[in-house]
Amino acid sequence: MALGKDMSMGIVVLSSPLPSAPFAEALRAAAPDIPVWTEQDDPPADEVEALLAWRLKPGIVGRYPRLRLVCSTGAGVDKLLVPDLPAGLPLTRVVDPDQAVQIAQYVLGCTLRHTRDLTLYAAQQSQRLWRRHPVRPSARCRIGILGFGAVGQAIARAFGPVGYPVTGWSRRPKAVAGCVCVHGASGLAQVLATSDVLVCALPLTAETRGLLDHRRLSALPAGAYVINVGRGEQLVEDDLRRLLDDGHLAGAALDVFEREPPPADHWVWSHPRVLATPHIAAQAADSVVAAQCVAALRAVREGRLPDHAIDRHAGY
Ligand code: NDP
Repeated sequence: MALGKDMSMGIVVLSSPLPSAPFAEALRAAAPDIPVWTEQDDPPADEVEALLAWRLKPGIVGRYPRLRLVCSTGAGVDKLLVPDLPAGLPLTRVVDPDQAVQIAQYVLGCTLRHTRDLTLYAAQQSQRLWRRHPVRPSARCRIGILGFGAVGQAIARAFGPVGYPVTGWSRRPKAVAGCVCVHGASGLAQVLATSDVLVCALPLTAETRGLLDHRRLSALPAGAYVINVGRGEQLVEDDLRRLLDDGHLAGAALDVFEREPPPADHWVWSHPRVLATPHIAAQAADSVVAAQCVAALRAVREGRLPDHAIDRHAGY
């Protein structure tokens, strides 16, 4: 029997810590002809053709001798790149324009809360204080976006009507209308030196892990604000804290953390100038995740490279 043409071959959902049932239901709705199992179903190992997963532990992939595809439940794949993932196995991620727009909404909201002094006015209101402050000019609200892909560019588009100048940093050179585009090491120095609001929208790779450390955060202009919607491991949290406490940085909005959730006694929960949210900047719809997983499986069955397959060498 030809691999993949076997009608019993199917998909296992490994979405922990997110519940697997909604993804399984969405997959069955998208492709009633493809068997779908969750881990609790004890799937028949030699009938598993694809995994839809958020993270993998070493040893899992080896359980399935006929595996030919791994799909991420999210836009990032960093928790799937285990050492025993076979080099030639296609690994796809979700690319959802609605998700990118959701992140842009989050970043825009956090930015305006800072640049328009809404936290200050909320504090004044609690004291029944009627005091006006000058509006910060747009030229002093320069936005720097690290990671200028699907998410980074959606964020840039959200700032167009607001009038804040945007610089985007990517690995390779690119041109995006209305934005300054920089890349590489010199581009990083440039974007850091000119960002009143720095947004991290990078994938987590060997190169981006620990990128925002004390030295790089110190290169931001005094009074800068930091927003992290990429991955927690890209920002050295204790370095951020030092720069908040010594007054170099004005504040931060963090949606992702070195450890999720942060321990109950972690300083981010109570720092007066940190907004901490539980990795909610965006959530891809289960139906979109399922449709892209099924499309990827059909592509693999037809011998094509699926859409949104990551570059295993680059790691994203
Ligand atoms: P893309 O692959 O479309 O874009 C990634 C961008 O990062 C590209 O511009 C890429 O450069 C750049 N990049 C990667 N490595 C480097 C590097 N070493 N130096 C400089 N630039 C680099 O990914 P998305 O935009 O779709 O997603 C980005 C990340 O956002 C995800 O991996 C995930 O971590 C995070 N995310 C967070 C969510 C949340 O809820 N908080 C939800 C969704 C995503 P180049 O263009 O040259 O390839």
